[in-house]
Amino acid sequence: AVAASEVALEPSVQQFIDTPRKMLIGGQWVTSESGKTFEVYNPSTDQIISHAQAADKADVDKAVKAARQAFDNGPWTKMSPAERGRIIWKIGDLIMDYQEELAQLESLDNGKPISIARAADVPLASEMFQYMAGWATKLNGTQIGITVPYAPGAEWHAYTRREPVGVCGQIIPWNFPLLMAAWKLAPALACGNTVVMKLAEETPLSGLKLAEIMQEAGVPDGVVNIITGFGEEAGAPIAAHPQVDKIAFTGSTEVGRLIVDAAKGNLKKVSLELGGKSPNIVLADADLEKTIPGAANAIFFNHGQCCAAGSRLFVHESIYDEVVEGVADFARNMKMGPGLDPETQMGPLVSRTQFDRVTGFLDSGKSQGARDAADGGRMDREGYFVKPTVLVDVKDDMEVFQEEIFGPVVTASKFSDLDEDLIKRANDTVFGLASGIWTQDIGKAHKLASQIRAGTVWVNCYNIFDAALPFGGYKQSGWGREMGEQVLNNYTECKAVTVAL
Ligand code: NAD
Repeated sequence: AVAASEVALEPSVQQFIDTPRKMLIGGQWVTSESGKTFEVYNPSTDQIISHAQAADKADVDKAVKAARQAFDNGPWTKMSPAERGRIIWKIGDLIMDYQEELAQLESLDNGKPISIARAADVPLASEMFQYMAGWATKLNGTQIGITVPYAPGAEWHAYTRREPVGVCGQIIPWNFPLLMAAWKLAPALACGNTVVMKLAEETPLSGLKLAEIMQEAGVPDGVVNIITGFGEEAGAPIAAHPQVDKIAFTGSTEVGRLIVDAAKGNLKKVSLELGGKSPNIVLADADLEKTIPGAANAIFFNHGQCCAAGSRLFVHESIYDEVVEGVADFARNMKMGPGLDPETQMGPLVSRTQFDRVTGFLDSGKSQGARDAADGGRMDREGYFVKPTVLVDVKDDMEVFQEEIFGPVVTASKFSDLDEDLIKRANDTVFGLASGIWTQDIGKAHKLASQIRAGTVWVNCYNIFDAALPFGGYKQSGWGREMGEQVLNNYTECKAVTVAL
């Protein structure tokens, strides 16, 4: 039931969720081979809102066959780059035509505030397709001058070609369901690949709507196949499939390792975007008016369910109390509520599993002596709500300091000097995805930016994403980069051609 304060669902959205959703394979909307389906929940109420198909290996085989056929013999690979680019651009246009429906589905399914889905998830997804559409016509090779010592006097024309990798398996998580689909599909299509994508079981709705949009944009049958189902049943067979040339995965580091293992059979190419435990560093000279809300948003945006979340806050001792109190105050004032309430600033966590996981970490931190400065933690109401939490008295070896919590929980630690010890502590993690620096001293900012071992550094800002900026991790945060020009390496093979003149 939708409360009075909530956005009324568009009739098309109501109809979309009322009909059990099918999967898109080879251009057809199909049920799972086994006939099994699963329930889709509204995390704000713990109620079932829809049903989706539970794919297994038989469905994956069918989808890979369709993608293989589309890659080997279909019109897609023969299409001119400009024509491919136009279709990809059109997907971006259509996402904006359906923006309200997509935002409602996203908020309903994931629990995120409708205001954020409208302002961030949907337009960023659209921009991703339109940015990548441009690359379709710019996949250039290079002409290379060569000298071959064992062929004196010979002349050569040598060059490289960028070609699609082939059939790409893509497995995505639930934290930004539509945007993660866009991050993966747009570059794969721009490079001329075909795709089998598995959506997250927690949040299949917006990805299935996107599949309809891609059909409407003119993506040929079999080029994009979208399946729904659980990790072991539907994800693992994609990662292991001998006819899949490349696998791209976003999710936990633990499952990332399973993907690498599964990919060994045919040594398919692997790219991974995994967890993080990102340091957010506030120097003594920071402008606190900007830094305090900045540090709060760094962790609380999307309820802390961001791989890049600024979850380890380091504050110079001279301003520690002021910053911690400011962030705690920000936390206490955040408006909690269902995603579909336009006033909501923080919705529920995505699932009961995540609720149990995050509150488990809070219990563990407190049992080891950490203290909550913000009156956060579990909320006594229906749905999977956890209030924003600011942990102080945290030691660097505590679980809450080391492990990715993936919820609205930040640890606040003190440092005394901008010295090697701070860098060591900031880098003392198996992850290396993102980081933040707050200071008015530009020299210190650049120096620190070079010392932090992470794929992204934000200075006096946080969570700034753009389709043109590469994103990805050092260390156990992943392999390869998404977005920007860099992602093209994930989705193309480089061929060297040498011609004797
Ligand atoms: P997960 O890694 O289990 O799931 C992500 C995706 O992988 C889902 O589509 C899932 O179905 C699939 N998957 C699961 N097991 C698989 C397998 N054996 N083979 C192939 N695919 C498989 O993540 P989760 O359980 O949803 O969340 C657990 C933790 O993961 C979170 O608490 C968080 O720390 C982390 N996480 C990170 C991100 C990120 O953006 N880096 C996103 C979601 C979750």
